[in-house]
Amino acid sequence: MADPLLVLLDPSAPDGLRVAPEGEAALRVTDLGVTRGDGVFETIGVFDGRAQNVGPHLDRLERSAGMIDLVPPARETLEAAIERAIREHEDVADLGVRVIVTRGPEGENTPTAWVHAKEWPLSTAERTGLHVVTLDRGVSTTAPASSPWLLLGAKTLSYAVNMAASREAARRGADDVLFVSSDGYALEGPTSTLLVRRGDRFSTTPAEAGVLPGTSLAAVVTRLREQGQEVHEELLTVEDVRSADAAWLLSSVRRAAPIRRLDDTDLNIDEELTATLSGAISGRS
Ligand code: PLP
Repeated sequence: MADPLLVLLDPSAPDGLRVAPEGEAALRVTDLGVTRGDGVFETIGVFDGRAQNVGPHLDRLERSAGMIDLVPPARETLEAAIERAIREHEDVADLGVRVIVTRGPEGENTPTAWVHAKEWPLSTAERTGLHVVTLDRGVSTTAPASSPWLLLGAKTLSYAVNMAASREAARRGADDVLFVSSDGYALEGPTSTLLVRRGDRFSTTPAEAGVLPGTSLAAVVTRLREQGQEVHEELLTVEDVRSADAAWLLSSVRRAAPIRRLDDTDLNIDEELTATLSGAISGRS
């Protein structure tokens, strides 16, 4: 594996950026990103050296930051940091680039920001099909409107719940999670968007139900539209997903990971469509 690479946004550097080894101590212990999970992030897929959907990722970073009243660094600086991280990282086929912005050290009101690039090969399950378990998220699809402070649909650094769910999946012998709302609807994975095909109909969870609006989903919607198909934003029950003709968890680095088993039900894997969807996300086709 190639060495990961770190680009710090550093106002004292001539161009505002400083490349550092991953192991360098770069964060203050009072940084609110660490002490409170108070910040936002994005993970961008870079395939054969080409970063995908940088604009939509930075749009979403700004949206998430807005939801927590945080002003992120200038967009050009973030773009330059992403570009620099990719340029200085060893050439690899699949790279993941994280952009992180925290509220900064307590009491200073100056965000901390960095970009971290690392090689990100797919696991066998991600390539060949995921065993996914449904887990109750404990919030209803009406919670985003009634309780916006829950920050549902924001990509904040407070991902401990998502990571706990992923560990619960592993404890149950599965690869990943499909969160379900307390009113019984399929939502999203801890780091992915749900896409379902039932006959000719493609469906995904409406963002208003409290899921992150996926950049991979947007790339897939564009590709399917070019092929004359629509993706419908509609609430699906777990039974709708279990009885689907195919289903995927979409995300920027993993692309379209097919679901091969949902709880105790086997699902069909559509390899050709999986390749098309992954190609739309990676820009490789
Ligand atoms: N939903 C959640 C909760 C996520 O964390 C992510 C990405 O990490 C996604 C969906 C997929 O988003 P994207 O396709 O933009 O990577």
